Amino acid sequence: MVIVREMTEVQSTDMSNGAEIVGVLKRVLVGPSDGAPTFAVRLFTLTPGGHTPAHTHPFEHGVVVLRGRGTVLTTTGLVPIQEGSVVFVPSGDYHQFRNGGPERLDFLCIIPVQHEI
Ligand SMILES: [Zn+2]
Repeated sequence: MVIVREMTEVQSTDMSNGAEIVGVLKRVLVGPSDGAPTFAVRLFTLTPGGHTPAHTHPFEHGVVVLRGRGTVLTTTGLVPIQEGSVVFVPSGDYHQFRNGGPERLDFLCIIPVQHEI
């Protein structure tokens, strides 16, 4: 069955823990509860100064920036991102998303559905 919903109406989860994750809201737009067998689509919102954990994992990210500006920390340094930027993080690559700007940073992050918990 085709499912249509508004991303703004999807409940958000505050992922922040005050340490390695700061100012991060996550919305699972498409995921296990939809019966998606292959991928999950998540919307992340980083508040100004917010950042995801600097981490690695054995699966990839496909990221599309919808709003705002920020940077991605990679093994070769910080790379600027903004609305319209597309980021592919291969499995096992070190990465962190940061919002150093004055406005919120929104991006979609697509992962293999079995890793959406
Ligand atoms: Zn990651």
